[in-house]
Amino acid sequence: MNHDSKNIMVILSSPSGAGKTTITKKIQQKYQSFKISVSHTTRKPRPNEIDGVDYYFVSQERFKKLVSEGKFYEYAKIFDNYYGTLKETVNEMIKKNDIIFDIDWQGTQQLSKFKNLKLIKIYLIPPNKDELRERLIKRNQDSPQEVERRYKAYDKDIQHWKDYDYIIINENLENCYKQIENIISTNKDTSFKFSQKSQ
Ligand code: 5GP
Repeated sequence: MNHDSKNIMVILSSPSGAGKTTITKKIQQKYQSFKISVSHTTRKPRPNEIDGVDYYFVSQERFKKLVSEGKFYEYAKIFDNYYGTLKETVNEMIKKNDIIFDIDWQGTQQLSKFKNLKLIKIYLIPPNKDELRERLIKRNQDSPQEVERRYKAYDKDIQHWKDYDYIIINENLENCYKQIENIISTNKDTSFKFSQKSQ
């Protein structure tokens, strides 16, 4: 992949319900240079989700075909569904934009193997487990069984915090967002200087 050294890739991971999606959208609104990587998934759309905006919703057959054709940079099975990031989309986007990925720890591990990618890996943690359950219930997007399942996955998910460059506790959305902004501007600045020097 031709990775322009001044464009960065920010990965935001967290246990389900830690507030990632809201933050991802906020970053894109604030920074014109950022594009969100829209993943493919076999999960059914939630009532408020739009195909091509939140995800590309595809069948298992379609997903498996894309896997067999080697089209994904990374993909993972999460809560019985597949999620993946297409190589072609990322390769095109990074030529002109910074990219933000909302992917899990499995995808992060796979992307990390590509040593030429300038990844900034951020892991968001909810302040405590009770708060996590509250958020999962409040967002009112999944069945009670699905909420329980996602809640239970927390302990396993959180073990992967060590794979990340930054860990942020999302106690307050505004503070959390500010910390991410700081991380982005520091890294953008460094990569800008780097690209200037290397020209
Ligand atoms: P949800 O079903 O709540 O939209 O997402 C479930 C999990 O899948 C979240 O942790 C999200 O970050 C992760 N996810 C979404 N897209 C991708 C992807 O393309 N690759 C991987 N590895 N994880 C993804």
